[in-house]
Amino acid sequence: MSMRYVSTGGRAPAVGIGAAIRAGAAPDGGLYLPETMPQAIDADLPLSEFAAAILAPFFAGDALAKELPSICAEALDFPAPLVPVASGLHALELFHGPTGAFKDFGARFLLACFDRIGDPADPLTVLVATSGDTGGAVGCAAEGRSAVRAVILYPKGRVSPFQALQLSCWDDPVRALEVEGDFDDCQRLVKAAFADADLTEAHNLTSANSINIGRLLPQIAYLAHAAVQAKRATGKDVGFIIPSGNLGHGFAALYARAMGFPIRPILLATNANRTLADWKATGVYAPRASIATIANAMDVGAPSNFERVAALPPEQRKLGVELVTDDQIRDRIRAEYETSGYVWCPHGATAAEAYARLSDRLRDEVTWIAAATAHPYKFAETVEPLIGRPIAPPPALAAILDRAASSISIPASLDALAHALQPHHEPTAA
Ligand SMILES: *Cc1c(COP(=O)(O)O)cnc(C)c1O
Repeated sequence: MSMRYVSTGGRAPAVGIGAAIRAGAAPDGGLYLPETMPQAIDADLPLSEFAAAILAPFFAGDALAKELPSICAEALDFPAPLVPVASGLHALELFHGPTGAFKDFGARFLLACFDRIGDPADPLTVLVATSGDTGGAVGCAAEGRSAVRAVILYPKGRVSPFQALQLSCWDDPVRALEVEGDFDDCQRLVKAAFADADLTEAHNLTSANSINIGRLLPQIAYLAHAAVQAKRATGKDVGFIIPSGNLGHGFAALYARAMGFPIRPILLATNANRTLADWKATGVYAPRASIATIANAMDVGAPSNFERVAALPPEQRKLGVELVTDDQIRDRIRAEYETSGYVWCPHGATAAEAYARLSDRLRDEVTWIAAATAHPYKFAETVEPLIGRPIAPPPALAAILDRAASSISIPASLDALAHALQPHHEPTAA
């Protein structure tokens, strides 16, 4: 049987997984979801083989199906250990990939798919505007590929030195563009490029943002794997606590539970951006402008995957929401370091705080797992003063520090972007 993907907008034709990944958003502006929900399986396998097994029905009938085992082997080749961190709480450490954040899973899986969808004679171009983790993860995932290249836009002088390096240190076919403007200018440029039919066609433009179904599938796989492994070890179902921004990760947890994996409560932890907390409290979804917090990868006021959550039947979208302010994040990082020695990044700390708020009864019901979404080294300037000691970079991030940056500076204009998209354009050493 073939798997088809339908749009939450309800006005686009159903397509196979390859077309859904190539398109990102559906032509009616909605988001793709599988037409039927595959069933959970209980298998004691390493992550990449487990992922290939549970994701097979999502790829059924598509040309990519035969590539799925190699895509999983390539993209999921680093560990996601479950580490006990406090009485009853486990951290699912998702930061052991090459750029130190869970976005490595989605970016590597998506780029592995693009590399098999594209044609080396006329490659796809992934265009991303970024201030944070996504651009680095996409650049790293595109390095050395032949059928897809990546062009990354970031605002000059508005990212930290480490972030700038992580965006601009990747070899061909990755190109970093330092835009003379702010993050909104970068996003405006990317939008303008996609709206330009000539540019889109000349460079086979495609996007890697978190609405792409190809980023969500590996997240379903590692959450399901963690739940199955924890259930085998403890005999209990699990509860997940997911630090949330655009809700891709949270949706993956809801979907894995709906498929039948041993997952019961799901809590979304947010920073001070209140859209999800207000929705939970009032039942009304009212997007807002985002506000800046120290968990900045979650500074989202209009979560782009909300539509997918809303498309689930009510019993499948049961969840809790815990809002965590910057002061509470800081207190939690300090307290966890003092009591257990564990160092959370500001995003993961929202999940640790949500756990700290649970009653003893709720804590006993399931094995609680908090997603540790980034390595604390990436937020050293926030975390080090709280714990009173320096944080050493893990090997993957140390390797980035050893690389040289190379980017092209452009004014914030579509002409300049169009010129920089030309394959012959040479970067200047920064
Ligand atoms: C992107 C990100 C999040 C939020 O994930 P969503 O899927 O957007 O909800 C949380 N933590 C870190 C470190 C991130 O980079």
